[in-house]
Amino acid sequence: MAKTFQEQAEINIGMIGHVDHGKTSLTQALSGKWTDTHSEELKRGISIRLGYADATFYRCDKCKGSEAYTSHEKCPNCGGKAKKLRKVSFVDAPGHETLMTTMLSGAALMQGAVLVIAANEDCPQPRTVEHLMALSISGVKNIVVAQNKADLVDRDAAIKNQAKIRKFLEEYGYKDAPIIPTSAPFGTNIDMLIEAIEEHIPSPKIDPKKELRMYVARSFDVNRPGAKIKEMKGGVLGGSIMQGSLKVGEEIEFGPGFGGKKMATKCVSLGTAEGELDKAGPGGLIAIGTELDPLLTRNDQLRGHVVGKKGTLPEATTDVRLDVKPFRRVVEKETEIKVNETVVLTIGTMTTIGTVVKSAGGKLKIASKIPVIVERGQTVAVSKKINAQWRLAAYGVAV
Ligand code: GDP
Ligand code: ZN
Repeated sequence: MAKTFQEQAEINIGMIGHVDHGKTSLTQALSGKWTDTHSEELKRGISIRLGYADATFYRCDKCKGSEAYTSHEKCPNCGGKAKKLRKVSFVDAPGHETLMTTMLSGAALMQGAVLVIAANEDCPQPRTVEHLMALSISGVKNIVVAQNKADLVDRDAAIKNQAKIRKFLEEYGYKDAPIIPTSAPFGTNIDMLIEAIEEHIPSPKIDPKKELRMYVARSFDVNRPGAKIKEMKGGVLGGSIMQGSLKVGEEIEFGPGFGGKKMATKCVSLGTAEGELDKAGPGGLIAIGTELDPLLTRNDQLRGHVVGKKGTLPEATTDVRLDVKPFRRVVEKETEIKVNETVVLTIGTMTTIGTVVKSAGGKLKIASKIPVIVERGQTVAVSKKINAQWRLAAYGVAV
Protein backbone atom coordinates (compact mmCIF):
# COMPACT_ATOMS: atom_id res chain seq x y z
CA MET A 1 0.00 0.00 0.00
CA ALA A 2 1.29 3.43 -0.89
CA LYS A 3 2.11 5.60 2.06
CA THR A 4 0.37 8.90 2.39
CA PHE A 5 2.58 11.19 4.36
CA GLN A 6 0.60 13.31 6.71
CA GLU A 7 1.12 16.60 8.31
CA GLN A 8 0.99 16.54 12.08
CA ALA A 9 -1.36 18.56 14.26
CA GLU A 10 0.36 21.39 16.14
CA ILE A 11 -1.45 21.03 19.43
CA ASN A 12 -3.68 18.71 21.45
CA ILE A 13 -6.80 20.48 22.63
CA GLY A 14 -8.80 18.67 25.30
CA MET A 15 -12.59 18.53 25.09
CA ILE A 16 -13.56 18.54 28.74
CA GLY A 17 -16.62 19.04 30.90
CA HIS A 18 -19.47 17.24 32.63
CA VAL A 19 -21.08 14.19 31.06
CA ASP A 20 -23.76 14.96 28.44
CA HIS A 21 -22.92 18.64 28.18
CA GLY A 22 -22.00 18.15 24.53
CA LYS A 23 -18.27 17.35 24.19
CA THR A 24 -18.76 14.71 21.49
CA SER A 25 -21.29 16.81 19.57
CA LEU A 26 -19.08 19.88 19.65
CA THR A 27 -16.01 17.93 18.58
CA GLN A 28 -17.97 16.75 15.61
CA ALA A 29 -19.24 20.23 14.82
CA LEU A 30 -15.70 21.63 15.05
CA SER A 31 -14.08 18.97 12.92
CA GLY A 32 -16.85 17.51 10.80
CA LYS A 33 -15.99 14.04 12.19
CA TRP A 34 -17.35 11.81 14.89
CA THR A 35 -15.09 10.81 17.74
CA ASP A 36 -15.07 7.08 18.02
CA THR A 37 -13.19 5.40 20.81
CA HIS A 38 -13.63 1.80 19.85
CA SER A 39 -12.91 1.41 16.19
CA GLU A 40 -11.14 -1.93 15.79
CA GLU A 41 -10.66 -1.25 12.14
CA LEU A 42 -8.68 1.89 12.75
CA LYS A 43 -6.48 0.15 15.28
CA ARG A 44 -5.57 -2.49 12.71
CA GLY A 45 -4.58 0.20 10.26
CA ILE A 46 -1.98 1.32 12.81
CA SER A 47 -3.82 4.39 13.77
CA ILE A 48 -4.91 5.35 17.17
CA ARG A 49 -8.01 6.63 18.76
CA LEU A 50 -8.27 8.11 22.17
CA GLY A 51 -11.67 9.36 21.18
CA TYR A 52 -10.52 12.36 19.23
CA ALA A 53 -10.49 13.99 15.85
CA ASP A 54 -8.12 16.22 13.94
CA ALA A 55 -9.41 19.44 12.45
CA THR A 56 -7.84 22.01 10.17
CA PHE A 57 -8.91 25.58 10.70
CA TYR A 58 -9.11 28.18 7.94
CA ARG A 59 -9.86 31.86 7.69
CA CYS A 60 -11.23 33.70 4.72
CA ASP A 61 -9.27 36.86 3.90
CA LYS A 62 -12.20 38.45 2.13
CA CYS A 63 -14.67 38.10 4.99
CA LYS A 64 -14.69 40.00 8.26
CA GLY A 65 -15.27 38.94 11.87
CA SER A 66 -16.08 35.48 13.20
CA GLU A 67 -17.77 34.44 9.97
CA ALA A 68 -14.36 34.22 8.34
CA TYR A 69 -13.41 31.20 10.53
CA THR A 70 -14.18 27.68 9.37
CA SER A 71 -12.97 24.08 9.38
CA HIS A 72 -13.44 23.86 5.60
CA GLU A 73 -11.27 25.03 2.76
CA LYS A 74 -14.22 26.77 1.20
CA CYS A 75 -15.50 29.87 2.98
CA PRO A 76 -19.12 29.20 4.04
CA ASN A 77 -19.82 32.93 3.87
CA CYS A 78 -18.63 33.95 0.39
CA GLY A 79 -17.75 30.61 -1.18
CA GLY A 80 -14.15 31.71 -1.78
CA LYS A 81 -11.00 29.79 -0.92
CA ALA A 82 -10.12 30.25 2.75
CA LYS A 83 -6.53 30.38 4.01
CA LYS A 84 -5.25 27.57 6.17
CA LEU A 85 -4.42 28.52 9.77
CA ARG A 86 -3.35 25.26 11.45
CA LYS A 87 -4.19 21.66 12.16
CA VAL A 88 -5.24 20.78 15.70
CA SER A 89 -6.03 17.53 17.45
CA PHE A 90 -9.06 17.31 19.74
CA VAL A 91 -8.52 14.93 22.61
CA ASP A 92 -11.47 13.60 24.53
CA ALA A 93 -11.54 13.41 28.28
CA PRO A 94 -10.52 9.75 28.55
CA GLY A 95 -12.28 6.80 30.04
CA HIS A 96 -15.73 7.11 31.40
CA GLU A 97 -14.59 10.25 33.11
CA THR A 98 -15.84 9.21 36.50
CA LEU A 99 -12.29 8.61 37.63
CA MET A 100 -10.36 11.70 38.52
CA THR A 101 -7.11 9.74 38.17
CA THR A 102 -7.97 8.90 34.55
CA MET A 103 -8.76 12.52 33.82
CA LEU A 104 -5.44 13.58 35.31
CA SER A 105 -3.49 11.24 33.06
CA GLY A 106 -5.49 12.49 30.06
CA ALA A 107 -4.78 16.11 30.97
CA ALA A 108 -1.07 15.33 30.69
CA LEU A 109 -1.56 15.16 26.92
CA MET A 110 -3.41 18.47 26.57
CA GLN A 111 -1.90 21.85 25.80
CA GLY A 112 -5.18 23.73 25.75
CA ALA A 113 -8.84 22.89 26.18
CA VAL A 114 -12.42 23.65 25.30
CA LEU A 115 -14.44 23.43 28.51
CA VAL A 116 -18.00 22.52 27.59
CA ILE A 117 -20.66 23.72 30.03
CA ALA A 118 -24.38 23.19 29.39
CA ALA A 119 -26.39 26.40 29.61
CA ASN A 120 -29.45 24.58 30.90
CA GLU A 121 -27.84 23.19 34.07
CA ASP A 122 -26.50 24.76 37.21
CA CYS A 123 -22.77 25.58 37.12
CA PRO A 124 -20.44 24.08 38.19
CA GLN A 125 -21.32 20.40 37.95
CA PRO A 126 -18.94 17.98 39.75
CA ARG A 127 -17.05 16.81 36.63
CA THR A 128 -16.74 20.39 35.43
CA VAL A 129 -14.84 21.22 38.62
CA GLU A 130 -12.63 18.14 38.51
CA HIS A 131 -11.74 18.54 34.86
CA LEU A 132 -10.77 22.16 35.32
CA MET A 133 -8.66 21.26 38.37
CA ALA A 134 -6.91 18.49 36.43
CA LEU A 135 -6.09 20.97 33.69
CA SER A 136 -4.75 23.58 36.03
CA ILE A 137 -2.54 20.96 37.71
CA SER A 138 -1.09 19.82 34.43
CA GLY A 139 -0.27 23.45 33.68
CA VAL A 140 -2.83 24.10 30.94
CA LYS A 141 -3.49 27.82 31.06
CA ASN A 142 -5.30 28.50 27.82
CA ILE A 143 -8.92 27.48 27.64
CA VAL A 144 -12.06 28.51 25.84
CA VAL A 145 -15.49 27.87 27.34
CA ALA A 146 -18.37 26.70 25.17
CA GLN A 147 -21.66 27.54 26.88
CA ASN A 148 -23.40 24.79 24.96
CA LYS A 149 -27.09 23.91 24.54
CA ALA A 150 -27.78 27.62 24.25
CA ASP A 151 -30.83 26.67 22.17
CA LEU A 152 -32.47 25.20 25.27
CA VAL A 153 -32.58 28.36 27.36
CA ASP A 154 -34.04 31.86 26.95
CA ARG A 155 -31.96 35.00 27.00
CA ASP A 156 -32.42 35.72 30.71
CA ALA A 157 -31.45 32.22 31.78
CA ALA A 158 -28.44 32.32 29.44
CA ILE A 159 -27.21 35.57 31.01
CA LYS A 160 -27.66 34.23 34.57
CA ASN A 161 -25.88 31.00 33.65
CA GLN A 162 -23.05 32.93 32.07
CA ALA A 163 -22.55 34.96 35.26
CA LYS A 164 -22.21 31.70 37.21
CA ILE A 165 -19.69 30.36 34.71
CA ARG A 166 -17.72 33.59 34.95
CA LYS A 167 -17.61 33.37 38.77
CA PHE A 168 -16.55 29.73 38.63
CA LEU A 169 -13.74 30.49 36.15
CA GLU A 170 -12.48 33.33 38.34
CA GLU A 171 -12.36 31.07 41.39
CA TYR A 172 -10.19 28.56 39.56
CA GLY A 173 -7.79 31.02 38.00
CA TYR A 174 -9.24 31.18 34.48
CA LYS A 175 -10.80 34.62 34.59
CA ASP A 176 -9.67 35.57 31.10
CA ALA A 177 -11.20 32.58 29.33
CA PRO A 178 -13.76 33.63 26.71
CA ILE A 179 -17.27 32.18 27.00
CA ILE A 180 -18.93 31.41 23.66
CA PRO A 181 -22.62 30.40 23.61
CA THR A 182 -23.02 27.46 21.21
CA SER A 183 -25.49 24.91 20.00
CA ALA A 184 -23.78 21.86 18.61
CA PRO A 185 -26.64 20.23 16.64
CA PHE A 186 -27.58 23.55 15.01
CA GLY A 187 -23.97 24.51 14.36
CA THR A 188 -24.56 27.85 16.07
CA ASN A 189 -21.45 29.96 16.73
CA ILE A 190 -19.02 27.23 15.73
CA ASP A 191 -17.19 29.92 13.74
CA MET A 192 -16.92 32.05 16.91
CA LEU A 193 -15.63 29.03 18.81
CA ILE A 194 -12.94 28.44 16.18
CA GLU A 195 -12.01 32.13 16.31
CA ALA A 196 -11.72 31.97 20.13
CA ILE A 197 -9.57 28.82 19.92
CA GLU A 198 -7.30 30.49 17.38
CA GLU A 199 -6.94 33.60 19.54
CA HIS A 200 -6.72 32.10 23.02
CA ILE A 201 -5.05 28.72 22.54
CA PRO A 202 -1.74 29.23 20.75
CA SER A 203 0.33 26.23 19.68
CA PRO A 204 3.15 25.48 22.10
CA LYS A 205 6.67 26.49 21.11
CA ILE A 206 8.77 23.48 20.26
CA ASP A 207 12.37 23.23 21.43
CA PRO A 208 14.04 20.93 18.87
CA LYS A 209 17.03 20.40 21.17
CA LYS A 210 15.06 18.58 23.85
CA GLU A 211 15.25 14.81 24.26
CA LEU A 212 12.39 12.71 22.96
CA ARG A 213 9.69 11.95 25.52
CA MET A 214 6.43 10.34 24.56
CA TYR A 215 3.69 9.46 27.04
CA VAL A 216 2.01 6.20 26.14
CA ALA A 217 -1.77 6.45 26.44
CA ARG A 218 -2.66 3.23 24.63
CA SER A 219 -0.91 0.16 23.36
CA PHE A 220 -2.18 -2.57 21.11
CA ASP A 221 -1.70 -5.53 18.87
CA VAL A 222 -2.65 -4.74 15.28
CA ASN A 223 -2.55 -8.32 14.00
CA ARG A 224 -5.64 -10.19 13.03
CA PRO A 225 -6.23 -13.39 14.96
CA GLY A 226 -4.49 -16.24 13.14
CA ALA A 227 -2.10 -14.04 11.19
CA LYS A 228 0.98 -15.85 9.84
CA ILE A 229 4.13 -15.38 11.90
CA LYS A 230 6.11 -13.84 9.08
CA GLU A 231 3.33 -11.37 8.39
CA MET A 232 2.96 -10.42 12.04
CA LYS A 233 3.48 -6.79 12.94
CA GLY A 234 5.21 -5.78 16.16
CA GLY A 235 3.47 -4.16 19.12
CA VAL A 236 2.20 -0.61 18.75
CA LEU A 237 2.60 2.22 21.27
CA GLY A 238 0.10 5.05 21.00
CA GLY A 239 0.39 8.40 22.68
CA SER A 240 1.65 11.89 22.29
CA ILE A 241 5.18 13.21 21.95
CA MET A 242 5.65 15.82 24.64
CA GLN A 243 9.09 16.98 23.49
CA GLY A 244 11.80 16.10 20.99
CA SER A 245 11.24 14.12 17.82
CA LEU A 246 11.46 10.62 16.43
CA LYS A 247 12.24 9.19 12.98
CA VAL A 248 11.35 5.85 11.51
CA GLY A 249 14.30 3.49 12.00
CA GLU A 250 15.57 4.98 15.26
CA GLU A 251 16.33 2.90 18.35
CA ILE A 252 14.08 3.67 21.29
CA GLU A 253 13.49 2.52 24.83
CA PHE A 254 10.55 2.72 27.17
CA GLY A 255 10.21 2.65 30.90
CA PRO A 256 9.54 1.84 33.64
CA GLY A 257 9.33 -1.38 31.61
CA PHE A 258 8.84 -4.60 33.47
CA GLY A 259 9.93 -4.76 37.11
CA GLY A 260 11.59 -1.40 36.62
CA LYS A 261 13.80 -2.68 33.78
CA LYS A 262 13.67 -0.48 30.71
CA MET A 263 13.11 -2.19 27.41
CA ALA A 264 14.66 -1.30 24.09
CA THR A 265 13.16 -1.68 20.64
CA LYS A 266 13.13 0.04 17.28
CA CYS A 267 10.66 2.46 15.72
CA VAL A 268 9.62 0.75 12.49
CA SER A 269 6.69 3.01 11.62
CA LEU A 270 4.98 6.19 12.73
CA GLY A 271 1.27 6.50 12.20
CA THR A 272 -1.53 8.95 12.77
CA ALA A 273 -5.23 8.27 12.32
CA GLU A 274 -4.95 9.71 8.81
CA GLY A 275 -1.77 8.21 7.47
CA GLU A 276 1.93 7.68 8.04
CA LEU A 277 4.76 9.98 9.02
CA ASP A 278 8.49 9.61 8.42
CA LYS A 279 9.27 11.86 11.38
CA ALA A 280 7.12 12.88 14.32
CA GLY A 281 7.26 15.59 16.96
CA PRO A 282 4.87 17.07 19.53
CA GLY A 283 1.19 17.52 18.56
CA GLY A 284 -1.54 15.03 17.88
CA LEU A 285 -1.65 11.36 18.69
CA ILE A 286 1.02 9.12 17.27
CA ALA A 287 1.25 5.35 16.96
CA ILE A 288 4.77 3.95 17.05
CA GLY A 289 5.12 0.60 15.33
CA THR A 290 7.87 -1.40 17.09
CA GLU A 291 9.65 -4.74 16.97
CA LEU A 292 8.14 -5.72 20.32
CA ASP A 293 6.25 -8.96 20.75
CA PRO A 294 2.65 -7.83 20.20
CA LEU A 295 1.65 -9.81 23.29
CA LEU A 296 3.38 -7.13 25.36
CA THR A 297 1.34 -4.29 23.91
CA ARG A 298 -2.06 -5.93 23.87
CA ASN A 299 -4.99 -4.30 25.73
CA ASP A 300 -3.26 -1.05 26.65
CA GLN A 301 -0.81 -2.92 28.86
CA LEU A 302 1.88 -0.32 28.27
CA ARG A 303 -0.32 2.65 29.07
CA GLY A 304 1.59 5.07 31.30
CA HIS A 305 5.04 4.14 30.06
CA VAL A 306 7.43 6.77 28.74
CA VAL A 307 9.33 6.46 25.44
CA GLY A 308 12.75 8.03 24.83
CA LYS A 309 15.64 7.46 22.46
CA LYS A 310 17.76 4.51 23.47
CA GLY A 311 19.95 5.29 26.49
CA THR A 312 18.29 8.58 27.42
CA LEU A 313 15.60 7.69 29.96
CA PRO A 314 16.36 8.03 33.67
CA GLU A 315 16.26 4.89 35.81
CA ALA A 316 12.90 3.96 37.27
CA THR A 317 12.48 4.49 41.00
CA THR A 318 9.99 3.76 43.78
CA ASP A 319 11.11 6.83 45.71
CA VAL A 320 8.94 9.77 44.71
CA ARG A 321 9.65 13.11 46.41
CA LEU A 322 7.53 16.14 45.84
CA ASP A 323 7.45 19.81 46.70
CA VAL A 324 3.74 20.27 47.25
CA LYS A 325 2.11 23.20 45.48
CA PRO A 326 -0.87 24.99 46.95
CA PHE A 327 -4.20 24.53 45.24
CA ARG A 328 -5.82 27.53 43.75
CA ARG A 329 -8.81 26.89 45.97
CA VAL A 330 -8.70 26.32 49.69
CA VAL A 331 -8.07 22.65 50.29
CA GLU A 332 -10.61 20.98 52.49
CA LYS A 333 -9.45 19.29 55.64
CA GLU A 334 -10.38 15.86 54.27
CA THR A 335 -7.73 16.10 51.57
CA GLU A 336 -4.90 16.30 54.12
CA ILE A 337 -2.28 13.64 53.36
CA LYS A 338 -1.08 11.58 56.29
CA VAL A 339 1.85 9.23 56.79
CA ASN A 340 1.10 5.58 55.95
CA GLU A 341 -1.87 6.53 53.85
CA THR A 342 -2.39 4.81 50.49
CA VAL A 343 -2.46 7.22 47.58
CA VAL A 344 -2.67 7.12 43.79
CA LEU A 345 0.06 8.94 41.90
CA THR A 346 -0.45 10.28 38.40
CA ILE A 347 2.82 10.95 36.59
CA GLY A 348 2.31 11.79 32.95
CA THR A 349 -0.07 9.08 31.74
CA MET A 350 1.10 6.66 34.44
CA THR A 351 -1.21 5.91 37.33
CA THR A 352 0.19 3.94 40.25
CA ILE A 353 -0.39 3.21 43.91
CA GLY A 354 1.93 4.36 46.66
CA THR A 355 2.28 4.76 50.42
CA VAL A 356 3.03 8.05 52.09
CA VAL A 357 6.36 7.83 53.95
CA LYS A 358 6.73 11.48 54.96
CA SER A 359 4.36 14.41 54.82
CA ALA A 360 5.56 17.64 56.39
CA GLY A 361 6.50 21.22 55.63
CA GLY A 362 5.11 21.18 52.12
CA LYS A 363 7.10 18.07 51.21
CA LEU A 364 5.91 14.59 50.44
CA LYS A 365 7.87 11.36 50.21
CA ILE A 366 5.95 8.49 48.71
CA ALA A 367 6.98 4.90 48.17
CA SER A 368 5.50 3.80 44.86
CA LYS A 369 4.42 0.18 44.71
CA ILE A 370 6.06 -0.24 41.32
CA PRO A 371 9.13 1.57 39.96
CA VAL A 372 8.17 4.65 37.94
CA ILE A 373 9.93 7.09 35.66
CA VAL A 374 9.72 10.50 37.27
CA GLU A 375 11.88 13.38 36.13
CA ARG A 376 12.88 16.41 38.14
CA GLY A 377 10.44 19.26 37.62
CA GLN A 378 7.68 16.94 36.46
CA THR A 379 4.24 17.49 37.95
CA VAL A 380 2.79 14.64 39.97
CA ALA A 381 -0.81 14.51 41.18
CA VAL A 382 -1.71 12.72 44.40
CA SER A 383 -5.20 11.33 44.93
CA LYS A 384 -6.60 9.71 48.04
CA LYS A 385 -9.73 7.86 48.91
CA ILE A 386 -12.45 10.12 50.22
CA ASN A 387 -15.93 8.67 50.69
CA ALA A 388 -14.96 5.56 48.70
CA GLN A 389 -13.72 7.60 45.72
CA TRP A 390 -10.23 8.52 44.58
CA ARG A 391 -10.17 12.28 44.80
CA LEU A 392 -7.43 14.72 44.03
CA ALA A 393 -5.74 15.65 47.31
CA ALA A 394 -2.52 17.38 46.35
CA TYR A 395 -0.04 17.91 43.63
CA GLY A 396 3.59 18.75 43.52
CA VAL A 397 6.75 19.01 41.52
CA ALA A 398 9.21 16.13 41.59
CA VAL A 399 12.57 17.01 43.18
P1 GDP B 1 -20.83 14.47 26.04
O1 GDP B 1 -21.22 13.39 27.01
O2 GDP B 1 -20.37 15.69 26.74
O3 GDP B 1 -19.90 14.02 24.96
O4 GDP B 1 -22.23 14.95 25.33
P2 GDP B 1 -22.80 14.57 23.88
O5 GDP B 1 -22.12 15.35 22.82
O6 GDP B 1 -22.85 13.10 23.75
O7 GDP B 1 -24.28 15.17 24.02
C1 GDP B 1 -25.22 14.68 24.95
C2 GDP B 1 -26.62 14.88 24.43
O8 GDP B 1 -26.92 16.26 24.32
C3 GDP B 1 -26.83 14.28 23.04
O9 GDP B 1 -28.13 13.76 23.00
C4 GDP B 1 -26.71 15.49 22.12
O10 GDP B 1 -27.45 15.34 20.94
C5 GDP B 1 -27.26 16.60 22.97
N1 GDP B 1 -26.66 17.91 22.68
C6 GDP B 1 -25.34 18.21 22.57
N2 GDP B 1 -25.17 19.51 22.31
C7 GDP B 1 -26.40 20.07 22.28
C8 GDP B 1 -26.89 21.41 22.05
O11 GDP B 1 -26.13 22.37 21.84
N3 GDP B 1 -28.24 21.58 22.06
C9 GDP B 1 -29.11 20.56 22.30
N4 GDP B 1 -30.41 20.83 22.30
N5 GDP B 1 -28.69 19.30 22.52
C10 GDP B 1 -27.36 19.05 22.50
ZN1 ZN C 1 -15.30 34.49 2.70
